[in-house]
Amino acid sequence: MRWGVREQRLREALVEIGARLYARGLVSANDGNLSVRVDAERFLITPRGRSKGHLRPEDLVVIDPEGRVVRPGRGGAMPSSEWPMHLEAYRQRPDIGAVLHAHPPFTVALTVAGVTFPSEILPEVVMTVGKVPTARLAVPSSEDDALAIREWIREHDAVLLPHHGVVTVGRTLEEAWVRMERIEYAAKVYLLSRALGEARSLPPEFLKALASAG
Ligand SMILES: [Zn+2]
Repeated sequence: MRWGVREQRLREALVEIGARLYARGLVSANDGNLSVRVDAERFLITPRGRSKGHLRPEDLVVIDPEGRVVRPGRGGAMPSSEWPMHLEAYRQRPDIGAVLHAHPPFTVALTVAGVTFPSEILPEVVMTVGKVPTARLAVPSSEDDALAIREWIREHDAVLLPHHGVVTVGRTLEEAWVRMERIEYAAKVYLLSRALGEARSLPPEFLKALASAG
């Protein structure tokens, strides 16, 4: 092994979450990117232009806090072009250890329709995700994309990128994954409720009860 046991474990976890995103249809083609903090000086990130469904631990790229490649992936693979957005999230949030970016179709549809994310329709979303703001429109993979999430990611664990996708963060990859999956589930339930009639938010007194339970 060319790296330590801890890094190997993180590489395997990242590959596993990538496969889940792909299997659940939260990314298509070679969309999306994932990263994890190894230590103060190194991050693991998915390689550019590859499907997240079939990665191997050695495909992942190691970058430093300035985005310089410390160790390329297998075959000289370079980091995802969204690396500035990932590093921006880590800069704003010293408490997090993982960043996920995916293109979940129901959630992206909400942003295309100009609908605010329904953060108060499901108890589990209230308790584990909270409010999910929508950033301003920015060109994917640009420095501007990183700037667009800056003010939001400081105070929130998820941000919607309009006409594009979602960014979630967590202390661990698993936590960031749960947030991503819950957001897409809530968007799906919201659209189904709208198809049947009204999408009602939880009553204020129930939200208060959830807040004190959490
Ligand atoms: Zn994207």
